[in-house]
Amino acid sequence: MEFALFCTRMNVVILLLALCSPCKFIQSPMEFGPLNFLKTSSRASVDFGRISFKTPSAVLRPESSGDISHLLSFLSASSSSKVTVAARGAGHSIHGQAQAQDGIVIEMDSLPSSIDIHKEKNGSWTDYLYLSIGGTLSNGGISGQTFKHGPQISNVLQLDVVTGKGELVTCSPTKNSELFNAVLGGLGQFGIITRARILLQDAPEKVKWVRAFYDDFQTFMADQELLVSMPEKVDYVEGFIVLNEQSLHSSSIAFPANLHNLIPHLQSAPPSKLHYCLEFAIHEYSYTNVEQVVEEISKKLSYMPAQMYSVEVSYFDFLNRVRLEEMSLRERNMWEVPHPWLNMFVPKHGITEFKDLLLETIPAENFEGPVLIYPLLRDKWDTNTSAVLPESDTGEKVVYVVGVLRSANPATCSTKCLNEILHSHEHFAQSAAEERIGALQYLAHHPSPAHWRRHFGRRWDLFAARKARFDPLCVLSPGQGIFSRASRHQSIED
Ligand SMILES: Cc1cc2nc3c(=O)[nH]c(=O)nc-3n(C[C@H](O)[C@H](O)[C@H](O)COP(=O)(O)OP(=O)(O)OC[C@H]3O[C@@H](n4cnc5c(N)ncnc54)[C@H](O)[C@@H]3O)c2cc1C
Repeated sequence: MEFALFCTRMNVVILLLALCSPCKFIQSPMEFGPLNFLKTSSRASVDFGRISFKTPSAVLRPESSGDISHLLSFLSASSSSKVTVAARGAGHSIHGQAQAQDGIVIEMDSLPSSIDIHKEKNGSWTDYLYLSIGGTLSNGGISGQTFKHGPQISNVLQLDVVTGKGELVTCSPTKNSELFNAVLGGLGQFGIITRARILLQDAPEKVKWVRAFYDDFQTFMADQELLVSMPEKVDYVEGFIVLNEQSLHSSSIAFPANLHNLIPHLQSAPPSKLHYCLEFAIHEYSYTNVEQVVEEISKKLSYMPAQMYSVEVSYFDFLNRVRLEEMSLRERNMWEVPHPWLNMFVPKHGITEFKDLLLETIPAENFEGPVLIYPLLRDKWDTNTSAVLPESDTGEKVVYVVGVLRSANPATCSTKCLNEILHSHEHFAQSAAEERIGALQYLAHHPSPAHWRRHFGRRWDLFAARKARFDPLCVLSPGQGIFSRASRHQSIED
């Protein structure tokens, strides 16, 4: 055992020598024995965003959390090292958050996975399932079920975490709770999650999935808020802005209803008249009369006449709906393209102004991708975690999430055009963050540590104190751009 550990440490030493060597003599993973290092891997320097491409010096494919612990323990014991480490889940970040320039990327998918089901109820999914649990728990994990069950980070029972210092710790709301809370929504800053015990829910066989269309924003919002006030009846609430006919078609791949009644409205409407799609879903169990529930709910809604459509789909197809959109985009060569996405939490009092400002920023005619907009309820968020929502002094319960999920087609949008989009989003995000609207980025990307301080506001001191405690040398997740790597002499603990 000790020998194995010694060998492992030796391998790390060799790796570090390799990292410091201009010749970069790592040639094959075999040379590094039990710790499975690759010189590099093309996917470690790319992510879903295709905006940031940082090249690591090496990639670790761990076989156990012990491998991760050995690496981080070694780095924190080394006095002069400035090597950084980024865990990479599924690499679905937008701005290189899981990358590490000249550092080490840990590809978490190499850890053996096992699922152990206990009978628990609740649970919250993301819209897209091909993300890693560690990656979504590092952010929040939200969807149309969040109003009912809270984000994924509110549905965690226990975690195994390797801290930035290399300690392997099991934590929960009652055991090592400071680390548990730090890591949830912690942007990978405090530790690497290697195991998670999360709440699940009984899967219904089918889902009644309903879409209703609006041409008035206030009515659309009022109906969304009505739906989230009925968690005993409704299981999912989302919505999106119908910017153009194409955006409706691409958001409807998985929704097998004929929307022909709606198309004339989209075509004949003056360009200034936008439409909004509200969607909700009801789980079908043997004991639910969904038709009756839908009828009861629809009577309370104020959608455009004859503009409600409903379908019945299997629960699997419902959860997997974004995968169908992915397949369709892949067929059009529109999946592996740059994605200048912007996601923001918007306080209810600022949502109308936010929407107007957004529509001045994005071009409705040729916008590619959906613009999601739906309400969440603040009281479903655990305020002990590291995740932040916009502050509210007025006691507003509702906060909106707006996702500008834009694709930049390289055939029509050059690098210059992409940079212009990024610049306009940055400018827009800053304006929307100002006090009047008070919006805050989700899956945030900020140009400097000072912006990050502003992002966390009153929560910054706690965030920085947790960093000093669990990753004092700032080894972890450099791609977020929040802290700079320190050597042992400069530890932020001191
Ligand atoms: C198509 C698509 C759909 C999406 N849908 C949703 C959605 O419905 N709801 C939602 O909330 N989000 C959604 N997202 C955003 C997504 O949740 C985040 O991008 C998330 O980080 C992706 O997980 P990942 O495993 O790909 O993370 P990565 O990009 O691999 O990593 C993200 C960050 O987490 C850190 N990290 C990764 N693994 C770990 C770990 N095990 N321990 C500690 N830190 C770790 C990384 O270092 C990095 O800082 C979507 C993204 C895409 C591209």
